Amino acid sequence: MAWEWEFTCPHCGVYVQVANTSQYVDEHNNAIYYSLGRCQRCKEIIYLKIASGNLVDQYPTLVRKADQSIPDKVATDFLEACRCLDAHAPRACAAMCRRTVQSAGVDKGAEGETLYKQIEYLAKQGLITPPLQEWAHEVRVLGKSGAHADVPDDVTPEDATDALNFTEELLRHVYLMPAEMLRRRSRTTEPEI
Ligand SMILES: [Zn+2]
Repeated sequence: MAWEWEFTCPHCGVYVQVANTSQYVDEHNNAIYYSLGRCQRCKEIIYLKIASGNLVDQYPTLVRKADQSIPDKVATDFLEACRCLDAHAPRACAAMCRRTVQSAGVDKGAEGETLYKQIEYLAKQGLITPPLQEWAHEVRVLGKSGAHADVPDDVTPEDATDALNFTEELLRHVYLMPAEMLRRRSRTTEPEI
């Protein structure tokens, strides 16, 4: 049986299709299968347990961590967004990405009563660049679709993956890169020329 599953590969960290390569029926319960899946991208093998057609366990599992430079509150929201994607919950993932962007905005002193205004404020103050402003708005719109049933657009797994990637890039620019630069400056002494 050529099953294919879609989830975040624990080896390469990308949301991919995992093809079933072999399967074994549980001797005590024929609704349970154990199988070996192969990531279509990195070709690594993942052990899967399937009960009544649902993926219920896997090895290895994906361990997500947020960089130390990201404040706890923001990191907590981001890791929850990751877990939503890993749990095949694209709408919840998009909504949590939106929340992550807002948490980061508030942390950076964004003013305004809506996320739209907060993003505009950060851009006007020069705290985020025009590309980051665009990404933040993209996540804002996707998150709105994820959280509200009265908007026309639904959120696909691909949309949720985009939202997570944009959010990750935002955090990288806002927190990781400045922290990296500080670490580098503390290690090197620049000669005056
Ligand atoms: Zn992979």
